[in-house]
Amino acid sequence: MTLVACIGGGQLGRMLGLAGLPLGLRFRFLDPSSDACAREVGELVVGGYDDPAALDDLARGADVVTYEFENVPVEAAVRVGALPPAAALEHGQDRLREKELFRSLGIPTARFGTLDETGLPAVAKTRRLGYDGKGQRRLDRVGPIADDELAEELVRFERELSIVGVRSREGETRFWPVAENIHREGILRVTRAPARDAPQDDAEAICASLLDELGYVGVLAVELFEVGDGLLANELAPRVHNTGHWTIDGSATSQFENHLRAILGLPLGSTETRERCVMINLIGAAPGLDELLALPHARVHLYGKEPRAGRKVGHVTLLDPDEETVVRAVALADAADLA
Ligand code: AMP
Repeated sequence: MTLVACIGGGQLGRMLGLAGLPLGLRFRFLDPSSDACAREVGELVVGGYDDPAALDDLARGADVVTYEFENVPVEAAVRVGALPPAAALEHGQDRLREKELFRSLGIPTARFGTLDETGLPAVAKTRRLGYDGKGQRRLDRVGPIADDELAEELVRFERELSIVGVRSREGETRFWPVAENIHREGILRVTRAPARDAPQDDAEAICASLLDELGYVGVLAVELFEVGDGLLANELAPRVHNTGHWTIDGSATSQFENHLRAILGLPLGSTETRERCVMINLIGAAPGLDELLALPHARVHLYGKEPRAGRKVGHVTLLDPDEETVVRAVALADAADLA
C-alpha cells in the first residue's frame, strides 16, 4: 500500500485523501489539533509543525510527504523531504520574495516597494503569515510602513482570476482553465470556471514559468488581477487551492488527484473540463443539507468542521447552473454565515 503523509490536516488534506482513497492510497496527517478534519480519511498524528519527533512520526514509512498550507516551517518541509520543493515555500511565505520572483521572471505585478514607488492609494500587507485578507490595510495618505510590511499599489482590477497548474517529476505540465473569483472581506466566496473570455495562454505562461523556475512537483496556484487586457500576478500558493475546488466535479481529473499523481511519479490525468461550474464557499456555518441538496445539480462538500466566524466549513459546486440557482445558493450561504 502506498502511504502519503501530509503536513496539515485541514480541508485541503481531507480532499487530497478523498481523491486518493479510490486509487488505493493511504494517508497520514500531522496537525496540532486532535479534531483536524482530515482525520476522517487517514491516520492523524497530533503535534506541532516544528516538532521534530512529530515530523518523524508523520514521515515514518511514507512513500511521499506533502503539505496542504504554505506556512509550513521551511525546516520542517526539508526535514521530511516534502514535495513541492521547499524553494516554493520560501517564496510563498514572504510577499516581498514572491514579488521579486515574479519580477525576475518578467511576470507583471502591482507596483510594490516604498510609497514613492507604489503611489496612492496603496495597500500595506504583512510580509509573512497573511491570508484571506488578514494583515492588510489600505493607505490613502503617506504614512509609516513597518519593516515586516510590504506596500503595493491599490489595483483597480476588472476581475480577479486564478490559474491552477500541475508539474510532474519529469517536468510535464498541465493547466486547468482560468477561474474567475469573487472575494468579500478578503475571503473567497464564489469561483466561476472556466472564466468567460479569459486570457488562458497568458495565465498559463505565468504559471509555467514559475513551475519551471522552482523545479516544482505538484499543484501550484497563481492569483491574478485582470487589468485592461493584461494580467498582474498577485500571489502564488504552492498547494492545492480553493479556486480549484470546482475541478473535483467539473474536470476529468481534479487538482487533488493530479497533485497526488505528480508527487508519486504517476502519469498526470487530463485537465479537460467536463462541465462549467460555479463554486460557492460555505463560510462560518453550513446551511442545512436538505436546502443544499435541493439546489439543482449541486455537488455538496462539507468538511466536518465546527462552525466559527470566518471559517471555511464546506463548498457547493453547481454544475452548469442558471443564474437563478447561483443567486439562491449564494443567499443560502450568506444566511448561514455567522459574520
Ligand atoms: P491577498 O492576501 O494578497 O490574496 O489579498 C486578498 C484580497 O485582497 C485579494 O483577493 C484582492 O481582492 C485584495 N487585494 C490584495 N492586494 C490588492 C491590491 N494590490 N490592490 C487591490 N486589491 C488587492
